[in-house]
Amino acid sequence: MPLLDTYNRVHNNLRISVTDRCNLRCTYCMPEEVVFMERAELLTFEEIARFVEIVAPLGIDKIRLTGGEPLLRRHLPRLVELIVAIPGIRDVGLTTNGILLAEQAQALFDAGLRRINVSLDTLNHERFREITRREGLDRVIVGILAAKKAGFAPVKINAVSIRGVTEHEVVPLANFAREHGLEMRFIEYMPIGADHWERGKVYFAHEILEKIESEVCPLVPVDDYDPRAPAMEFRYTDGQGRIGIIASVSRPFCLKCNRVRLTADGKVRNCLFALDEADVKPLLRGGASAEKIAEVVRANIHEKWEGHEINTARFIKPLRTMHAIGG
Ligand code: SAM
Ligand code: SF4
Repeated sequence: MPLLDTYNRVHNNLRISVTDRCNLRCTYCMPEEVVFMERAELLTFEEIARFVEIVAPLGIDKIRLTGGEPLLRRHLPRLVELIVAIPGIRDVGLTTNGILLAEQAQALFDAGLRRINVSLDTLNHERFREITRREGLDRVIVGILAAKKAGFAPVKINAVSIRGVTEHEVVPLANFAREHGLEMRFIEYMPIGADHWERGKVYFAHEILEKIESEVCPLVPVDDYDPRAPAMEFRYTDGQGRIGIIASVSRPFCLKCNRVRLTADGKVRNCLFALDEADVKPLLRGGASAEKIAEVVRANIHEKWEGHEINTARFIKPLRTMHAIGG
């Protein structure tokens, strides 16, 4: 039996956070000062791999490693090796801020990682400092180029789209991506950080598209365009690349959602915005059977709500901010 919820959504996509720590402090993601999880609270690589072994037969075949900043977790390529070896897992990806990527790209590729998304909201040093509250733009760019060189294809660049903040970065980023053979993905700003979010601050998908079409190059939907997939995907009519837009606010994809999350401290979350979690760490550490753990995961997914309700007055922001959930 696949992992189904009461809306008949099949869950095959697991996002695993390997740490809540980060070497940046993006304003839309986390507060400046944070008490991080104790190391002993984090699932070990063996515990994460056992969890994946348990959920793979339930239909999980796609994994994304994230955080916090996943490259801060020591020996990450070893986890990649463990996961790619699990029968049924056909796709393993990673989302990183790129700061440590130049050093690790080759080892990650050699361990079997094939998909990589690097988050970069701006090519301007001052703006980078404002958004991330740290230095590091040049390192991210070197990291992106190292990922290309290591063999990742495509390397995708994630940029959060915030009115007045990253709005003016859309065109430079799109041009940068075209120049270097990268795929840009713009993500509408969501209420999941420690900052004050309001709908008016979201620089919407249709605005991004208009801007790119007028200032970069006209776009057409990709041949296998799926209007209900999380990313709306387009290609440039001059043949020089493609872009994706994740319009979680203006065009939520909840009805097609296939995602479930495992936090670094071993909580299963059936939605990024979930208010309830199922704690599998005591089960993994206490020698619970695979059947018992599978049952807890099934029950958590069964309870999944219809959608995140960002656009309604009913929306309640979860207590954890993005860095502690796993984006
Ligand atoms: N540290 C890594 C990174 O930045 O790529 C991985 C974790 S980060 C939480 C994963 C993704 O979530 C990043 O692409 C980041 O830009 C995105 N993100 C964080 N807060 C967000 C928000 N409030 N709205 C939209 N995307 C957000
Ligand atoms: Fe760190 Fe990624 Fe959050 Fe930025 S978005 S603070 S890089 S976890």
